[in-house]
Amino acid sequence: MSEYSVSDSLAEVRSEIAEACKRAGRNPADVALIAVSKTKPVSMINEAMEAGQTLFGENKVQEMCEKSVELQDTGAVWHLIGHLQKNKVRKAVAVAAMIHSVDSLALAAEISKEAARIGKVQDILLEVNVAEEDSKFGLSVAETPDVAKEIAKLPNLHLCGLMTVAPYTPVPEENRKYFSALRQLAVDIASQNIDNIDMCCLSMGMSNDYAIAIEEGATYVRVGSKIFGERIYTTEGRV
Ligand SMILES: *Cc1c(COP(=O)(O)O)cnc(C)c1O
Repeated sequence: MSEYSVSDSLAEVRSEIAEACKRAGRNPADVALIAVSKTKPVSMINEAMEAGQTLFGENKVQEMCEKSVELQDTGAVWHLIGHLQKNKVRKAVAVAAMIHSVDSLALAAEISKEAARIGKVQDILLEVNVAEEDSKFGLSVAETPDVAKEIAKLPNLHLCGLMTVAPYTPVPEENRKYFSALRQLAVDIASQNIDNIDMCCLSMGMSNDYAIAIEEGATYVRVGSKIFGERIYTTEGRV
């Protein structure tokens, strides 16, 4: 047993999710918690699984694939939440139940092609850089509807909604406007009734601000450090 208790942290996050749902008059069943396990060992993922967590998020394809092999037949479900390069699409499609980080038509086309090859319809989200941060990946709000329309024509994809990574801020309330903008964008796209597009999934909110994201309509929250503890990077800063 490690000193740090994943199950205690998980319980705390779950209860905060329930409270945020209550405040917002939402059904907690409509908010899925993605435990972001990047950089964390399989032993900690096992602790989370013992506490009933099955949905995990990774931001690197290689790491997701390695962990999925170690944890095969355990019921763990993997979502890819980090930037995806075209040359890693084959591996990503083989493992990920959902890819949150689709940010171009070319990438979507490649995903559809690889999904077709293995007879899969890949669930995806479009990543939108709502806050227009230079450092972030993602489509602009303005270009997203047209890209969504084109993606809807690809045969082996199912576009399920939108995702955003809000800025890091010590004042989480400041991100409310970005969450509400993402939700409004999803409503606008959904109102165009395009075949093969759902806009029911909104992936937004991280350790710092997931309660606010839930109040603004998140259906997936991606929580890492609040569950598994701070990440230690040797060469990079905060990712
Ligand atoms: C790392 C990461 C998270 C989780 O971040 P925390 O602040 O540790 O909760 C969520 N989303 C993405 C895309 C990430 O890369």
